Amino acid sequence: MQEVRKKRNELLAQTVIKGLKSRNMEGYYASGREEAREIALSLIPEGASVTNGGTFSAEEIGLVDAVKAGNYRYIDRKDSKDRYTAEREAYSCDCFLSSVNAMTNDGILINIDGNANRVSAIAYGPKKVIFIVGMNKVAGDDIDSALKRARNEAATINAQRFGLDTPCTKTGACMDCKSPDNICCQFLITRYSKHPGRIHVILVNEELGF
Ligand code: SF4
Repeated sequence: MQEVRKKRNELLAQTVIKGLKSRNMEGYYASGREEAREIALSLIPEGASVTNGGTFSAEEIGLVDAVKAGNYRYIDRKDSKDRYTAEREAYSCDCFLSSVNAMTNDGILINIDGNANRVSAIAYGPKKVIFIVGMNKVAGDDIDSALKRARNEAATINAQRFGLDTPCTKTGACMDCKSPDNICCQFLITRYSKHPGRIHVILVNEELGF
């Protein structure tokens, strides 16, 4: 990544961390993937039950593999024969790993979901939620800008990734569809956490996820 962009991201991350603090959420800055993984692991107690609702960013930094290999109880919904039960276990787990689809400069988190297992667990249930967020997902100073990123980038790329029959996979932009295949059924805006110490956001100075 260009040095000037890295510098700008490093400065912006401090603004985002202040915004998170004002919303009762903890923010951390990591200059790269390894540092992000170490911060995340330091937040997960030994023996904890851990799962996720589908997060490419946590996989990219090697966190999912590290948890699988470590002294934790990893609930693997992908390999589970009964995915519905595995997804429901997330509500009582110790740590839930996720990314965001976008966030604002002042710490508001935006997530869009088709199945709702991910957004519902972010909103309520797991004792701790740990977000891995590449600085490419910090999308401006208002909710509207972040929603635009979430719909026109994150959702359209995910629809492409899953090979869905939606307008965005043909046009590359969100067409606000009601297609049966659409993955934009539930929108979660997290603007404050009622529970101190529950939400942790690790900002990584790299491009991660979509
Ligand atoms: S076109 Fe449909 S599936 Fe694609 S991003 Fe928009 S609402 Fe979501």
